[in-house]
Amino acid sequence: MTAYDPNNIFAKIIRGVLPCERVYEDQHTLAFMDIMPQGDGHVLVVPKSAARNMLDVDPAALGPLMTSVQKLAKGVKAAFDADGVAVMQFNESASGQTVFHIHMHVIPRWEGVPLRGHTGAMADPDLLKSQAEKIRKTIGFNGWTG
Ligand code: AMP
Repeated sequence: MTAYDPNNIFAKIIRGVLPCERVYEDQHTLAFMDIMPQGDGHVLVVPKSAARNMLDVDPAALGPLMTSVQKLAKGVKAAFDADGVAVMQFNESASGQTVFHIHMHVIPRWEGVPLRGHTGAMADPDLLKSQAEKIRKTIGFNGWTG
């Protein structure tokens, strides 16, 4: 398997070298808005530790990761009054993975509303900001000082 690249986009976001619209953070994980969302409220949850995907991640990182995924799944469902939530994750290009730092997609779903495709279109930054604020308020996240 290809080695982990410490200069992938999400590694840079975790290091603070690239910006993100952060919705949650703790010692082990970070959650932020997807900039090309497949639905309103689409967030990504990543472990801070290095891993390419589910095939190489340290199992010890999965507990804290899934704990944050659950927090965000409940949070986005409540924040956007959704009927359900999709939690998705892809491993290697053949499965659809495009960023090679393991990440979980958490996407609110509504009855009868299909996911938007991967059009490559960036969301309006102001819209993402207001959606992120809604999520932070709902889960009671005021920043992490770690
Ligand atoms: P995947 O296909 O599972 O690798 O998904 C990667 C996701 O990362 C896609 O949904 C992209 O829209 C998203 N993405 C790519 N670059 C960024 C970025 N700089 N900030 C937030 N999300 C991003």
